[in-house]
Amino acid sequence: MIQKPKGTRDMLPETCEKIRILENLFIELCGLYGFREIRFPMFEKTSLFERSVGESSDIVRKEMFRVISGANLDKYCRGGYDIQKEGLTLRPEGTAPTIRSFIENKLYADAQPTKLFYMGSNFRNERPQAGRFREFTQFGIEFIGSEDAYCDAEVIGLAMDMMERLDIDDKELRINSVGCPSCRKAYHELLRGFLADKVQYLCHDCQDRYDINPLRILDCKIEADQQRIKGHPVLLDHLCDDCAQHFESLKENLSAMELDYIVDTGIVRGLDYYTKTAFEIVSSSLGSQSTICGGGRYDGLVEELDGPPTPSVGFGMGMDRLLMAMNDLDEKEERKGIFLLALGVEQKSALVNLAVKLRREGHYCEVEVMQRSLRASMKYANKQLFKAVLVYGESEKEKGVILYRDMEKGEQIEVEFDRILEVLSE
Ligand SMILES: [Zn+2]
Ligand SMILES: [Zn+2]
Repeated sequence: MIQKPKGTRDMLPETCEKIRILENLFIELCGLYGFREIRFPMFEKTSLFERSVGESSDIVRKEMFRVISGANLDKYCRGGYDIQKEGLTLRPEGTAPTIRSFIENKLYADAQPTKLFYMGSNFRNERPQAGRFREFTQFGIEFIGSEDAYCDAEVIGLAMDMMERLDIDDKELRINSVGCPSCRKAYHELLRGFLADKVQYLCHDCQDRYDINPLRILDCKIEADQQRIKGHPVLLDHLCDDCAQHFESLKENLSAMELDYIVDTGIVRGLDYYTKTAFEIVSSSLGSQSTICGGGRYDGLVEELDGPPTPSVGFGMGMDRLLMAMNDLDEKEERKGIFLLALGVEQKSALVNLAVKLRREGHYCEVEVMQRSLRASMKYANKQLFKAVLVYGESEKEKGVILYRDMEKGEQIEVEFDRILEVLSE
């Protein structure tokens, strides 16, 4: 038996229905804030992610699904194919494609700001674990074109609204500032100085990070490394005036929006293009506390991708985590729809015709196709929570009626066949 690839999952109807609730809620909230949807390809040029996410990031180094088309496979095997230059990659995140699209379609030429949202699959070749998949769904928004700290607060506000509406418990907003290239440069030197006599004891990745981007060491998942770097200087204490002021303004805006927050200097966004605001929303709804939403400002990205200098801020929200963290939205299941049962071949076509008319009127109905008896059909319709069953047999046909059974009340009446649509519409 062929099974699904490791790290993927099937979403069965019950899950899809929950996902639809999440999507609709997200779309509704985006509408309230004026974010409009954007869709972009499932795969992009690999260089887009190398330049935006960063060649030194774990995502680019280890986790991307690179695509080689059948036509290029021979060339690749013979060594005549430059996978770095010509290669495509299944998108590992949504910000870079959004910004690529913003630049390519010259959206910057319109009156600013540009407010976009997206929903869809991303792909990362991570070790599968609970709540983490190799194909995962992300909701995201990007608020492009302004450096006003209100934008950061609005982005956070939308994410918090989403959690609120989903009734997610113990949510906690944590904010930090990761500075800008100028204050970060000075800080990197400070951090390297602090780490100089410790780096040889850190993990292999951290030893690489020391030269490329020591800030990443603070983000290392290895507990022993975290112990060794305890007491390190924090960037928040060494921000330039511009960044410090922006952070103050963010806090004022959050207070004006009645949002509680914790300043957490441990939030270091793993991507190179982040500047100033970085935030996470964590919840313990999943057992151990985990991040449901993360985002921040990335003032350097548009320029990095050859667009005009354009400040931006956004978030990505893992839908799979939300699904797990969602308190049961299962409302009491309601009976709905009509189950149509024909007894006898000749009666069936009249019922099939009735089904067409019912659907035209907007009624949900289904036709019995398993050749169940009257009794078995009633049992089935009851279990499936149909609101009503219509039975059309030989005796009904002779009398010109159809049997209508109300499954809620357990009562049944005969209705003139020609009047059944009228009766149902009442
Ligand atoms: Zn700065
Ligand atoms: Zn490490």
